[in-house]
Amino acid sequence: MPATGRDDGITGLTVLGATGSVGKTTLALARQHPGRFSIKALTAGSNWRELAAAAREMRPRFVAIRDESTLPELRDALSDLPIEVAAGRSGIDEAARRPADRVVSAIVGIAGLGPTMAAVQRGATVAIANKEPLVSAGRLIIEEAARCGATLLPVDSEHNAIFQVFEDENRDRIRSIVLTASGGPFLRHSVEEMAACTPEQALAHPNWSMGAKISIDSATMMNKGLEVIEAHHLFGFSEQKIEVLVHPQSVVHGLVSYCDGSVLAHMAPTDMSCPIAHALAWPERIAVPRCRLDLVTAGPLTFEPPDDARFPALGLARSALRAGGALPLVLNTVNEVAVQAFLDGAIGFCDIVRLIETVLAREQPATPASLEEIQELDAAIRAVARELLGEPGRAAGTVAMPSAAV
Ligand code: NAD
Ligand code: MG
Repeated sequence: MPATGRDDGITGLTVLGATGSVGKTTLALARQHPGRFSIKALTAGSNWRELAAAAREMRPRFVAIRDESTLPELRDALSDLPIEVAAGRSGIDEAARRPADRVVSAIVGIAGLGPTMAAVQRGATVAIANKEPLVSAGRLIIEEAARCGATLLPVDSEHNAIFQVFEDENRDRIRSIVLTASGGPFLRHSVEEMAACTPEQALAHPNWSMGAKISIDSATMMNKGLEVIEAHHLFGFSEQKIEVLVHPQSVVHGLVSYCDGSVLAHMAPTDMSCPIAHALAWPERIAVPRCRLDLVTAGPLTFEPPDDARFPALGLARSALRAGGALPLVLNTVNEVAVQAFLDGAIGFCDIVRLIETVLAREQPATPASLEEIQELDAAIRAVARELLGEPGRAAGTVAMPSAAV
C-alpha cells in the first residue's frame, strides 16, 4: 500500500493552475475539509488578482505567476503576508519542487510539462489533470516517475474512473479499457453546421463546465483522442485495447472489460469534484457535499460508437499514437495553436482538424529524447503551425493549406 503522505493527518497540497476550472474545484474541496488539507504552493498563468485572493485565503508558503509583468502587483497585493512570491517559468517550476504531500497538476496545455516533470523528479505524488504533457511526453514522464519513485494519480474523469475499477493484479486478464465521451455540443450536428459554428456555440458543453481549451477539444472530440493517448501512458495498454463509447448522459465515466466477460463500470455525477476528491484522498475517501448520483432521475443510459466521419480528430489521434515517436507531440502542439486560433476568430471550427492533418502529413521529426528536446520540438512545430495560419492571401476564416492535404 503506497504511503498516503499524511504523517500528521494533514495533507500538504500544491495546486499548479490554481485559478483554472480544475484548480478552483480543488481549492473548493480543500475549503470543504478544514483541517484535512494545508496549501503549500499555488500558481497561475496571468490572473494575479485571483491568485492573490486565493493565497490570502489559503495562506500557502509560496506563490508563482507565469506572466512576469504582473509580479509587482502580485507582490504588492501579498506584501503584508509571510508568502514568498515568484514569477516566470522558473517560479512555476520552483512551486512544483517545494515540499507537499500531493501536487495537483492543473495547468492547461504543454505549458504544464516542465512543472509536472519537476514534481515527478522530486518523487512527489502527482494528481494529474493536465493531459497535454502526457500526450506529448508520456513515455518520459512515466519513465521518470518510475526512476524517481513518483506516484501519478489520474484526475481526468475517464482515467480516474478506470483507475477505480482496474485490478492491477489481473492486468493480463483485461480485454480492453473503455473511455466514455459525451459527444460534446455538436453530437447531432452536420459537418456543415459545425463548419459555421461560433466559438460561443463550441464552448457551450452540454454536461461539463470546464476551461475554454478542453471545451473546444470536447466539441471536436480531439479531447477523446488526447485521452486515448493519455490512457495508453497511464495504464500501459496498446491503442487497440483502448475503446471509446459515446455516452451522452455522462453517468458512466470509464469501464474495464475482463476476459471472463465481466465489465466493471464506474459511475458518478457529472462533476469534477468527484475525481479530484478521489485523487486528493486516495487510497482513502473524503466526502463531496451535494455530490450524489440518482440513477432513477438520471434517465436511460445509452451508448453508441463514435462517428469517425463527422469527428475525424479521434482517428487522427489514434493514428498518431500507432505511429508513435514525435507524432503525438505534433498532434498536440498543432491542436493547441489551432484551438487558440479558433477562439480568436482567426479560423473556422473544421479548420482545427484540417490544420492538424496538414502538419502531421508534412512533418516527420525525430523522436525527442529529453525534456529540452521536447520543448524545442514543441516550439518548432508551433512556429510551423502559426506560419501556415498566417500565410498571406488566405481568405478570412479559412486555413490556407496545400490542397493535397485538405
Ligand atoms: P483552465 O483554462 O480553466 O485553467 C488553466 C490554469 O492554468 C489556470 O490557472 C491558468 O492561469 C494556468 N495557466 C494557463 N497557461 C499557463 C502557462 N503558460 N503557465 C502556467 N500556468 C498557466 O483549464 P482547466 O479546464 O482547469 O484544465 C486544466 C487541465 O486539466 C487541462 O490540461 C485539461 O485538459 C485538464 N482537464 C480539465 C478538466 C475540467 O473539467 N476542466 C477535466 C479533465 C481534464
Ligand atoms: Mg476527460
